[in-house]
Amino acid sequence: RFITLEGGEGVGKSTNLQFIRQLLVQKQLSVILTREPGGTELAEKIRRLLLEQHNESVTPEAELLLMFAARSQHIHHVILPALAQGQWVLSDRFTDATYAYQGGGRQMDQAIIAWLENTVQGEMRPDLTLLLDAPVETGLLRARQRGNLDRFESERRDFFERVRQAYLARARQEPRRYAIIDASLPLADVQEQIGRALEAITS
Ligand code: C5P
Repeated sequence: RFITLEGGEGVGKSTNLQFIRQLLVQKQLSVILTREPGGTELAEKIRRLLLEQHNESVTPEAELLLMFAARSQHIHHVILPALAQGQWVLSDRFTDATYAYQGGGRQMDQAIIAWLENTVQGEMRPDLTLLLDAPVETGLLRARQRGNLDRFESERRDFFERVRQAYLARARQEPRRYAIIDASLPLADVQEQIGRALEAITS
């Protein structure tokens, strides 16, 4: 099975990723943890290129294509082989992040993203996507406190509002695949929601 974790900045993705991994391990499942952009040697190099500063602006088209270039490597060299061996794959972000950041945030045409998704992934989609959702201000405050600001995170607030709304719109379109987790609640409540969402897919 293939599970993805999504959310904007500072919603507690890293902490909860470890929590989800532990829940799966407790259920005696063999799980590999991976992330996007990244997950393979080449894809991690693309990630670094995407997060670094350059003496030129990165066009939304270049960003979108690099995301899918990294994703193609990730799918073929990590995700599909693991799934074929019967492992559970837990990915920190996947294609929904492209709909949210490149689609919502950078306002790239959804139809183009959908075309790339079908071309790169074929029928392959996550079995479950956990969306950690919190108001933009809450997340940015947490991200700022950690000093976790990069090229992407120095964007304007309305960018992140568009990211959040794009995530929520996708979650509402595909309610069977998505679990929306209220990440503005205390950690214990967040993890209770995650536990319930996982119960459905692991039992
Ligand atoms: O998941 P993580 O926060 O480590 O991602 C690093 C950065 O890459 C984030 O700040 C996010 O804004 C950005 N990103 C993006 N488009 C994606 C995935 C990640 O802009 N499709």
